[in-house]
Amino acid sequence: MLVRPAADNEKPPASFYEALGKALKKRKLKIESICPVTDVVARRILEEYGAIFLAVKKVTPPPVCVFTTEEQVTRFQGAAGFTTETIADATIELQPEAMKALLKARAEAQEENLDITPRGGAEAARRNYEDSMRLWDTRFLPALDYWLGQERLTTEQVSRLRTLPLHDQVAEVLELERSGIFFSKDLSKSILYSIAAPGTSQHIAMLALDVTEFDNPRVREILAKHGWFQTVLSDLPHFTFLGLKEKDLPKHGLKSIEADGQIFWIPNVVDQSR
Ligand SMILES: [Zn+2]
Repeated sequence: MLVRPAADNEKPPASFYEALGKALKKRKLKIESICPVTDVVARRILEEYGAIFLAVKKVTPPPVCVFTTEEQVTRFQGAAGFTTETIADATIELQPEAMKALLKARAEAQEENLDITPRGGAEAARRNYEDSMRLWDTRFLPALDYWLGQERLTTEQVSRLRTLPLHDQVAEVLELERSGIFFSKDLSKSILYSIAAPGTSQHIAMLALDVTEFDNPRVREILAKHGWFQTVLSDLPHFTFLGLKEKDLPKHGLKSIEADGQIFWIPNVVDQSR
């Protein structure tokens, strides 16, 4: 993964935490209440997936960085509301504002003989808590086998990791990744760039869509024009609805990074002293 700052002609981005504080204040929320500073896992999640908390007021970001039960997810999704559409034979669900923008982007793409379709069926959009646990295991379990085979993990470590409570399991995976024991699908990068930790996916927020045509620069341009951006570094098909203009993203605390030939807008975390 080649990672470098994108265009230097844009304004220096605002600090993510400052911008986040302001965005949440408008919703009468505080950073500490959605993501306690003492919870290292939650903070890491916030710094990887936190762009959704900067989205326009018309959408509802999750009340927490990490959902811990299905019931909590169901309650949030019911309160935020979502609409259903069938696109290319897949039934997808998104928050109404995100869906509206997606349909406009799709219509615009189709005028140019392009298309914007969900990648991998219904799972491309809304997911529940159970989905997020299952998908985590599709990366976590094979990686355990691999690293065991490489003798980087012992049988004891593997069985312990498997039985840890979820929160601790995520914490230990992230810790192992610091020494190069990666858990992404291709085992070359952090699992967080491959699949979200359980209960943390932007898909749970119903503000994310995995797009089949992600490889087409014009499709990405059209999505961006309608407020859909890539905000999870190196997760290539994954787009996030922010509803903001691209030129305003720096002032909302996001910085652009080029990776694998695409532009990602990720939290500009500058204050290391938190
Ligand atoms: Zn995704």
